[in-house]
Amino acid sequence: MRILVTGGAGFLGSHLCDRLLAEGHEVICLDNFFTGRKTNIAHLLNHPGFELVRHDVIDPFKFEVDQIYNLACPASPPHYQFNPIKTTKTSVMGAINCLGLAKRVKARVFQASTSEVYGDPHVHPQPESYWGHVNPIGRRSCYDEGKRCAETLFFDYHRENKVDIRVVRIFNTYGPRMHPNDGRVVSNFIVQALRGEDITLYGDGTQTRSFCYVSDLIEGFLRLMAQTETVGPVNIGNPGEFTMRELAELTLKLVGGKSKIVHRPLPSDDPKQRQPDITLARKVLGWEPKVSLEQGLQHTIAYFRTQL
Ligand code: NAD
Ligand code: UDP
Repeated sequence: MRILVTGGAGFLGSHLCDRLLAEGHEVICLDNFFTGRKTNIAHLLNHPGFELVRHDVIDPFKFEVDQIYNLACPASPPHYQFNPIKTTKTSVMGAINCLGLAKRVKARVFQASTSEVYGDPHVHPQPESYWGHVNPIGRRSCYDEGKRCAETLFFDYHRENKVDIRVVRIFNTYGPRMHPNDGRVVSNFIVQALRGEDITLYGDGTQTRSFCYVSDLIEGFLRLMAQTETVGPVNIGNPGEFTMRELAELTLKLVGGKSKIVHRPLPSDDPKQRQPDITLARKVLGWEPKVSLEQGLQHTIAYFRTQL
């Protein structure tokens, strides 16, 4: 197949491009390089099946493709809050442009949605049936509401225009090729520990997240696109739940060194807990994560050692 990956030069997008090419597909990678990097895809530039297009998803585009994966959107809070209006535009107009193209060329189209649609959840763990608890006017809303609106568009194009959609709700994912200045917790803690700097724990560190290693996530993407039993939304994430203090301590143990844990103010609307209910992914995709947090951190630490 010929497959379009928007946001293909980003952390997840570049791993997805690798995997699709390895399966024998042709890949068109579209990216505006806001948070993506050429180094993430430099090894693919001479691959005969790979094409790179610098373009912004908020402007329309046309490609003859069989499938579309829509990943274009900054994912880390400091990056998506840098220009919040642009973040909402990217999610909403990017979705409209992908769906319009999918409708015209009859392509199956995939949306990278997020556990952020659950906001600061009152139901724990979060099943897909939970509607969420999102502040519509806070600092995270540009991302959360943009992604929620994109889901709405996907389901309306599906109902109204019979567009063949797949929607995944991604829970915190980490691994090699995260940007060292990305601002997300795993990359921050590893980079700080490797540099011997203080580990910045926001709030009291009792808030929890569930961390999925990138190869597990990409496997879930491909399984969702390959089946016809469900269009989603399907949670993909690792149900292992850790406090941020536990993550800081584990990172310090694995990296070694002399960094100290210091506290910084908790960002506004920071969700207190996050854990995916992956019953649906287990049932319809036969999917569950294989890489433990400790193994995944070791791979990620090894990557950052080569980068710093
Ligand atoms: P990332 O920031 O590394 O990648 C996003 C990519 O999209 C970058 O290459 C960036 O340059 C590109 N991009 C941003 N705005 C664009 C625009 N207007 N036009 C074209 N390209 C644009 O982040 P990531 O972690 O790889 O996330 C990829 C997708 O997965 C995002 O949609 C994100 O919301 C979603 N997601 C990720 C996580 C996670 O934990 N990594 C969790 C939930 C959802
Ligand atoms: N966090 C932290 N120190 C950091 C970066 C993040 O303690 O240097 C916390 C943050 O407050 C949140 C959790 O780690 O509770 C996950 O943050 P991240 O930005 O990675 O993702 P998200 O909040 O979107 O899940």
